[in-house]
Amino acid sequence: LHYVGDIVGTALNRARKITSEHKIEVDIPPDLPMLKLDPVLFEQVLFNLLDNAAKYSPSGSTIRVQGWADNGSVIVQIMDEGPGIPAHDLERVFDTFYRVRKGDQVRAGTGLGLSICRGFVESMGGAISAANRTDRPGAVFTIRMPVPNEAPDVGNRGEELSVDRSA
Ligand code: ATP
Ligand code: MG
Repeated sequence: LHYVGDIVGTALNRARKITSEHKIEVDIPPDLPMLKLDPVLFEQVLFNLLDNAAKYSPSGSTIRVQGWADNGSVIVQIMDEGPGIPAHDLERVFDTFYRVRKGDQVRAGTGLGLSICRGFVESMGGAISAANRTDRPGAVFTIRMPVPNEAPDVGNRGEELSVDRSA
């Protein structure tokens, strides 16, 4: 069983270079239920989402990672302050090789990151979806992972993972 905050921390470390021009805000409570998952796959999912958030939003803007427990699941969200994703593309961005904007062709990318994310998340029994923020322009990716029955209710780590890093 794994505490999501640990994996978020590892992914943020690995993504440090590609997010160096962004502000990073993390809010993962210490009392989240533990999850049954493959930490290597889960970290890769978070890394791909951080890579996108940094690539498709302006430098100096804020990338926010937040988590909470919800009705038998743990939710992890990554949101940015970029242009967001057109409504009719929200499902297609998970297709292999799909890229939204013509302009994206000048940015390095193959259109594989999100299809890998969905494959990994679903292989661990979870779900991932894309949406746009309602409070301001920006994309938000939501991962929902089921809390296993045998998991203790509270995996209290005593220490909250809360990062507030300026660019
Ligand atoms: P790579 O294989 O290197 O990840 P990619 O980033 O183009 O290439 P995906 O990560 O699968 O591929 O993303 C698919 C497309 O979805 C992107 O090309 C981009 O058009 C759109 N997209 C993904 N994340 C965001 C985001 N945070 N904001 C806006 N558009 C996004
Ligand atoms: Mg990508």
